[in-house]
Amino acid sequence: MDADVLVIGSGQAGVPLASRLAGAGKRVILVERKELGGTCVNVGCTPTKTMVASARAAHVARTAGRLGVHAKEVRVDFPAVVDRKDAIVRSWRKGVEDRLKKGGDRMVLVRGHARFVGPRRVEVGGEIHSAQTVIINTGARGVEPPVDGLKSVPWLHNGTLMELRELPAHLVVLGGGYIGCEFAQMFRRFGARITIVDRAEHLLSREDPDISVEVENAFREEGIELRQRVKVARVAGKQGDVTVHLEGGGEVRGSHLLVAVGRRPNTDDLGCDKGGIELDEGGAIRVDDRYRTTAEGTYAVGDVTGGPQFTHTSWDDHRILFDILMGKGKRGRDGRHIPYTVFTDPQVAGVGLTEREARKKGIKFEIASMSFGDIARATEVDEPRGRCKILLDPESERILGVFVCGAEAGELIHIFVPLLQAGAKATAIVDAEFVHPTFSEGMQSLVMRLERYALS
Ligand SMILES: Cc1cc2nc3c(=O)[nH]c(=O)nc-3n(C[C@H](O)[C@H](O)[C@H](O)COP(=O)(O)OP(=O)(O)OC[C@H]3O[C@@H](n4cnc5c(N)ncnc54)[C@H](O)[C@@H]3O)c2cc1C
Repeated sequence: MDADVLVIGSGQAGVPLASRLAGAGKRVILVERKELGGTCVNVGCTPTKTMVASARAAHVARTAGRLGVHAKEVRVDFPAVVDRKDAIVRSWRKGVEDRLKKGGDRMVLVRGHARFVGPRRVEVGGEIHSAQTVIINTGARGVEPPVDGLKSVPWLHNGTLMELRELPAHLVVLGGGYIGCEFAQMFRRFGARITIVDRAEHLLSREDPDISVEVENAFREEGIELRQRVKVARVAGKQGDVTVHLEGGGEVRGSHLLVAVGRRPNTDDLGCDKGGIELDEGGAIRVDDRYRTTAEGTYAVGDVTGGPQFTHTSWDDHRILFDILMGKGKRGRDGRHIPYTVFTDPQVAGVGLTEREARKKGIKFEIASMSFGDIARATEVDEPRGRCKILLDPESERILGVFVCGAEAGELIHIFVPLLQAGAKATAIVDAEFVHPTFSEGMQSLVMRLERYALS
């Protein structure tokens, strides 16, 4: 079949691009090999945050005594938690399906695995499809590390872990990145024993250590066991009994093993060489500022371009590329300030340069740091754990980076994102009036911890 636009992958950019391009009068083919909606809807953000909400409810109920409220019995109905998650995922998936249907005759959904057989030509289930414009939104998947014995052990990834209907007795989590941390705390709060095994010095190793330490302390307090700075020699075991053997001796034994050690772009089975599409060393598709791959008329968006791998980034990619394809694109993919949030408790959110990055790059900065517990609201609601820090360019007074570890950090970071994007001075926050008592007013306090804005 021939079309104006061929979109491969129904991820966070593919679906809105396909439907908006169809709405603009283009004949569109969208190819998807699995469930509609991609990682975020099916095995990523939506199901995890739905389950994190249940886990947090259990934690709040169990610890309500600190607020003078005593719950008699806190019982997690794990199958009910999973059912709730499944229902929400199903409804979001249906939303994607309905959105695509609105494309009418101009939108053709092809189910199956797409593989390039030539420039702007793909094969799906024995049929050839081609288009003037091809957009690749094939996403990424969890890495299977080359660990001895892994192939013969029934290990879990993010998708299969969330399919369990019985709570693991002891979940061993390989990897202390954001996915490993979110699952570790969630399953601990459901009642499982948890051990995180990680080779880095700190959890969330991309953060400055003073931020990671806050999460580590919270995890230890909740009874999560941390085995850090260790390397896995091999794994062994069977269903319900898995052992992780560590280099230099020692082992961790549990009932289930979650592997969460990074994600790789879905390009190995895409036939990019046939399509004239160049990849980088990590297997990501090389794109320029306007999402152009090395093949004419072929674009790539989202996780498959190597990252940062977030839903909001892929969604933003769609907005930028749509405008480019419509001939009115002013923005490119570079120059964006991309925020992120780790949905642990306390949450960790950031935007811009970390202190470590700024030092490494030799960038001059002024810095202020503050305990989250210094915020009045944090005391009132008894959510004191965390730390916030800010880096400022001493000459322009522009904010270089902000990192918040604390309650609702994922909301708070948005106070700063538009300022960074607009290149505004930090005085925009100093001069504003913030509501008391809110966590947000704490963000003004953080800026005013910078010496130049401090009250005398
Ligand atoms: C456990 C977990 C939690 C996460 N939580 C968050 C979060 O809280 N916030 C956040 O911003 N991000 C989160 N992410 C990341 C987020 O899910 C991704 O960044 C997001 O889905 C963007 O992906 P995408 O649009 O690039 O493609 P995806 O959503 O991955 O979609 C790609 C689609 O392409 C299809 N496909 C692949 N190859 C082919 C082929 N050859 N032929 C046909 N179809 C193909 C796939 O089946 C898939 O449906 C999380 C990820 C995971 C794994």
